[in-house]
Amino acid sequence: MCRPQPGFAAVDPPQQWVPTRGRFRPERLDAPLETLPGVGPTLQKRLGKLGLERVGDLLDHRPRRYERPAPQKRISELFGDEEVLIEGEVIRASLRRGRGRLQILTAQVSDGTGQISATWFNQPWLKDKLSPGTQVRLRGQPNRFGFAVKSFDLNGGSATADFAPVYPASEEISAAKLRELVEAALPFAADRPDPLPAAFKAARGLPLRGDALTVVHKPRSLAEAEQGRQRLAFDELLVLQLALVRRAAEREEHVAAALLPPGELVERYRAVLPFELTEHQESAIGEIDADLARTTPMQRLLQGDVGSGKTVVALYALLRAVEAGRQGALMAPTETLAEQHFLTIEGICMELGVSCALVTGSVKSKLGGRADIVVGTHALIQKGFEFRDLAVAVVDEQHRFGVEQRSALTEERSPHVLHMTATPIPRTLALTVYGDLSVSEIAKPPATRKPIVTAWVTDERSSEAYTRLRAHLAEGRQAYVVCPLIEESATSTARAAEQEADQLRAGELKGFRVGCMHGRLKPAERRELMARFKARELDVLVATTVIEVGVDVPNATIMIVQEADRFGLAQLHQLRGRVGRGAEQSFCLLISGPKEELTESAHDRLEALVASTDGFELAEKDLEIRGGGALLGARQSGLSDLRFARITHDRELLEQAREAAASLSPETMAPEVDALLGDAEHLGES
Ligand code: ADP
Ligand code: MG
Repeated sequence: MCRPQPGFAAVDPPQQWVPTRGRFRPERLDAPLETLPGVGPTLQKRLGKLGLERVGDLLDHRPRRYERPAPQKRISELFGDEEVLIEGEVIRASLRRGRGRLQILTAQVSDGTGQISATWFNQPWLKDKLSPGTQVRLRGQPNRFGFAVKSFDLNGGSATADFAPVYPASEEISAAKLRELVEAALPFAADRPDPLPAAFKAARGLPLRGDALTVVHKPRSLAEAEQGRQRLAFDELLVLQLALVRRAAEREEHVAAALLPPGELVERYRAVLPFELTEHQESAIGEIDADLARTTPMQRLLQGDVGSGKTVVALYALLRAVEAGRQGALMAPTETLAEQHFLTIEGICMELGVSCALVTGSVKSKLGGRADIVVGTHALIQKGFEFRDLAVAVVDEQHRFGVEQRSALTEERSPHVLHMTATPIPRTLALTVYGDLSVSEIAKPPATRKPIVTAWVTDERSSEAYTRLRAHLAEGRQAYVVCPLIEESATSTARAAEQEADQLRAGELKGFRVGCMHGRLKPAERRELMARFKARELDVLVATTVIEVGVDVPNATIMIVQEADRFGLAQLHQLRGRVGRGAEQSFCLLISGPKEELTESAHDRLEALVASTDGFELAEKDLEIRGGGALLGARQSGLSDLRFARITHDRELLEQAREAAASLSPETMAPEVDALLGDAEHLGES
């Protein structure tokens, strides 16, 4: 049929096109849930607690699983207790009270071949719906009283269908109610615009977005549901990747000064190092040199396990700035870590004739922002602190800074930036979240190092652990004892650490020199303590997790972690990295409560730690145990926006999304990308 148009369309467009019947009406998805039949203010509020506010949210509520298919039986054939479907007509229904507050609803159902009494618990309102003559379809199990109903449909409906979706529900809203609501929202699935070009979808065999939503909620097979999920997951990953492409493009607009090739200063640096750089360190340095030669600011992530030798590489980058007559800065997330870095760097700098300053909340060396190399904490990005001429910035443990803090360092200066992390990120996550950074990896520690031997024992054998520890001390080695985590406050953790130290001085470690390190010490006290430990004036450091990062004493060869089951996997791995820093064989002894009292995930964590010293492998494991959001801080990473993607399983899909993002026009999915980046900008420290 031909619609009459005023004039020629190309020449005289009408004021408004006549709407086509099949057009998208995305506004219907933005309507509040109250617009759906049967949703009043109370239900709307309860749904709100599940994060469901608009009609579209229901469509994005991914089923947790699907019902298994069950055979349909005639009532006369019922036998055994296998889950089955029956269909029939209600003869009569009655309600009675059971024990306590239990309410039992029983309906006699007949299908012509036989009759059975079907039971529901605590759903008294159903009685009125089960009037004689009502057609029912029931899924459940036959038992000796009759038939226990798991789900049902009255006069049609699809709750009992094979592969019926089961949604994440709450105490206040049942999975059945959610199923009903999603079903009511499903006709609007076609109103979700599909932003992907048709040719693109055809080439990859991707279903339409609306169809994908429909089959995710109403699949005819599990394979179909998975196909739908993959399409939706692809969209989510694509949005993340497009955001990364855009961010990278924005950065290309900034200009940094290109540095001349490596010169005499870094030559001397190599000469004063008491060791040869490893192959991995050399290749990281090569990559950094290539970045520094460009006028686009470097944005590189240096990944490497604890003790793999990142700091040596970082100092190289800083010295490259110094030899160009400019300035380098290293920013660390805690004072302890900044001080540690300063101690390491200062000595070498002195030998090289390079000036070096420490700037933290409590320490400001006189030189401050004029030093060749400035090491510090957030103090570096506070108002009032001025750099002389910042050319290279290193951000250590970069994931512990918020987006704003990281950008405060680069704002209006565009230095070359090297991000460091000792919390290795599994490749999928790294691509998802840091896909806009180039990555250098120090995959192996210096060869002189032996892998740490880790053992896990329970409380009753803790005295054996201390016997081992004393043996190390007797040989002139040093040790750490990590105190249990106490959640209440830094003060109570500190107190517990002091008490523990006192007990050990009087007991297991009698005759040895025991220091105690915790977050309540003043920075000067902490510094002094560390210096004494380094100078071997102390044999043992009893500590809270403040020693987690940065502490570097190669003579410390054994560590006991008490109540190890209370720490996270990444944290334990970090803690363990305090030993094994020299050529000696090192040990880490994890002590926990009785194995049968531990949670399954605590069990998994400790076992993983005993089995592996490889940070990347452990990070993968951690991802499996905890999921992506928890690993990185969900808000920081945009991972909380992933509803259909499963970061641990969707590697292939992620690679595809990455490729696609590079080939699609930057405007693709612009509103979604805006929303994602807009969110990220409001993030503070996480
Ligand atoms: P990270 O910062 O990755 O935790 P560091 O740079 O602090 O590791 O190095 C850990 C220890 O290994 C330091 O004591 C450092 O001097 C030493 N080290 C670094 N590189 C080498 C190397 N190539 N050969 C031998 N020892 C090294
Ligand atoms: Mg380090």
